[in-house]
Amino acid sequence: MPPHATILVVEDNAMNMELTCDLLEVAGYRVLQAVTAETGLPMARAEKPDLILMDIALPGMNGMEATRMLKADPQTRAIPIVALTASAMRSDEQRALEAGCLGVIQKPLDTRAFAARVAAYMNGARAPSDPS
Ligand code: MN
Repeated sequence: MPPHATILVVEDNAMNMELTCDLLEVAGYRVLQAVTAETGLPMARAEKPDLILMDIALPGMNGMEATRMLKADPQTRAIPIVALTASAMRSDEQRALEAGCLGVIQKPLDTRAFAARVAAYMNGARAPSDPS
């Protein structure tokens, strides 16, 4: 990963946010937090994170709409976005990919595999989806 790579986490659930950020910080990432898409979008434009982890189910604007907006904006379109979702349905995963996400990570997080998954996405390739 690039030194001090920055990841923006958009997640409204406090427990998920804490776990996600702990795992990322232990792995050496600088982490930015937003609990809504409405606050995450300006953060993405201002900070240009190396990766965005985007919860799909958010109050207000959902993660799908936020991803479409980031991908429509020349300032942020190059930032890879990985969806976080509690849904294991392939149709939901497909919708996230169509919105512009590079991939999907299922919640609850697999804490042992999470950092490696993030690193794989960080390296740019479309990582394989969860085996579940
Ligand atoms: Mn949520």
